[in-house]
Amino acid sequence: MASSSLVLSEEQFQCSVCLNMFTEPVSIPCGHNYCKACIRKYWETTDLCLCPMCKEIFHKKPALRKTSDPLVITSVKFSQSFS
Ligand SMILES: [Zn+2]
Ligand SMILES: [Zn+2]
Repeated sequence: MASSSLVLSEEQFQCSVCLNMFTEPVSIPCGHNYCKACIRKYWETTDLCLCPMCKEIFHKKPALRKTSDPLVITSVKFSQSFS
């Protein structure tokens, strides 16, 4: 059961929808980051637009902004340099 205890800093670098490194990371108004494709797909399956992590509900589909979190951007660049 040790594998279920991910530390917070690791979670910041992975999309909680696909559980992979971000591809095209975007941030939503609650501050969480997802791959653009993942969060779009997720919202297609739900009646309400909500954050998969904190469950904050957005009454209309929020604009997806390119993430500005420097840690996320760095981790994406890092992972892409290996692919
Ligand atoms: Zn994803
Ligand atoms: Zn959230």
